[in-house]
Amino acid sequence: MGWGRTIAVSAAAIEPTSPSQVEPLLASTGRNEVQPASRGIIPRGLGRSYGDAAQRAGGLVVEMTSLDRLRAWDPASGDVTVDAGTSLDALMRSFLPRGWFVPVTPGTRYVTVGGAIAADVHGKNHHHDGSFGTHVRSLRIATPGCIQDLSPEADCSPDRFWATVAGMGLTGIILEATLRLVPVETAFMRVETSRENDLDATMASLEEGDARYRYSVAWLDCLARNSHLGRSVITLGEHASRDELPSDHAEDPLAFSPTTRLSLPVAPPRGTLNSATVRLFNSLWFHRAPRVASTTVEPLASFFHPLDGVRSWNLLYGKLGFLQYQIVVPFGAEDTIRKVLEDLVAARCPSFLAVLKRFGPSSPAPLSFPMPGWTLALDIPRGPRELHKLLNHFDDIVASAGGRVYLAKDARLQPEHLAAMYPQLEKWRETRSLMDPTHIMRSDLDARLHLAGKP
Ligand SMILES: Cc1cc2nc3c(=O)[nH]c(=O)nc-3n(C[C@H](O)[C@H](O)[C@H](O)COP(=O)(O)OP(=O)(O)OC[C@H]3O[C@@H](n4cnc5c(N)ncnc54)[C@H](O)[C@@H]3O)c2cc1C
Repeated sequence: MGWGRTIAVSAAAIEPTSPSQVEPLLASTGRNEVQPASRGIIPRGLGRSYGDAAQRAGGLVVEMTSLDRLRAWDPASGDVTVDAGTSLDALMRSFLPRGWFVPVTPGTRYVTVGGAIAADVHGKNHHHDGSFGTHVRSLRIATPGCIQDLSPEADCSPDRFWATVAGMGLTGIILEATLRLVPVETAFMRVETSRENDLDATMASLEEGDARYRYSVAWLDCLARNSHLGRSVITLGEHASRDELPSDHAEDPLAFSPTTRLSLPVAPPRGTLNSATVRLFNSLWFHRAPRVASTTVEPLASFFHPLDGVRSWNLLYGKLGFLQYQIVVPFGAEDTIRKVLEDLVAARCPSFLAVLKRFGPSSPAPLSFPMPGWTLALDIPRGPRELHKLLNHFDDIVASAGGRVYLAKDARLQPEHLAAMYPQLEKWRETRSLMDPTHIMRSDLDARLHLAGKP
């Protein structure tokens, strides 16, 4: 199942220990010893996509995390070549002490390089640096019948490269990738924190902050209503320079060894996260933030990956699991964000993790999620039929505003919306079918949305 723990399925799984074991799995029709039923094959990284992107009921799941070797490193350019199962956590632990950081990190570092490319993940710096795929110099991919080296360069099948970026594992299995790291002086961040009392102020503050800072995000209190709708805590960040560090960190400015502080062994009772507990948490969090912007220096992990400090935090939502609903709407469609928030408040939907951010320009990848505009991400306990109706209604208004739902987070979108949300879908399908003409690569996300086309 995915990180939201909503749809559990049974599948055969295989964990290759050498890249040479991967391509034979894709040979011919997909029928082989481990996958007799030929229900399709899908690679899986660290399983941090929330829905059904990295699973295939009755098919074969290729677990990539044992393929995690460093293949090449060029300290002059910052180019690093790694196996696709390498995690961003491992990259940070190896390269931060040498003064290099990943160009884009999502809200968890427990994702693989293959998973980050396949979802074209974004971070708090999208307005400044774009998404993960734009920092990939080249990749090697096993497709049914052959291994291909792809890059954005004209002589290296750029269409196939960009179809693989954000291709959700459906063009083949990425074996290794070369990406360009960014130099940093320290493993710390200079962070400016402030709070805003309503949605207009939050949006204005993010826009102003994006002009000054490389990283930005707003946490929203999703239960605040009326004149407080959209009240938020804004955090803006920049890599701290050596001379900004307090004296106790000055000796080892690049030290990076984050630990897990807490672990949830089992799912707590149903209802632990309800409107009352979330309201209490939200109020404490909001009032803890300074009224007037204040600047601190923080370890990099607490700025980028606060949730990684709690192992298995997804169990907090109980046995039913939870949905993450992430949308983007173009600039000018701010009212759609307001409408979603108003309806959520009216439905008393307890989302304690609600994040708003501005995106910069899109990447050339046809299925890439980010577009210039506002993205809102909400964690919502899986709930009654009304919740699904509400989210279906949000899909309608997001699609008619020219926006889209993020496939790496999705577990419930209906196929009708896909073409409107992803206008370059046909272009992607054409390239995908050249790479996998007999449609061996398949996931439950693909089957639900007919992503690769109708069977
Ligand atoms: C706490 C948390 C915070 C997050 N924050 C963000 C965020 O800020 N921004 C963001 O963009 N995303 C975010 N995500 C989502 C996450 O970054 C993506 O879902 C990412 O794809 C997960 O990587 P993974 O290695 O776990 O891949 P999986 O979840 O295992 O797989 C995801 C997709 O990648 C494909 N895939 C995996 N490996 C390969 C491979 N070797 N070759 C081809 N395809 C492959 C799979 O088939 C699947 O379609 C977050 C997730 C969590 C749990």
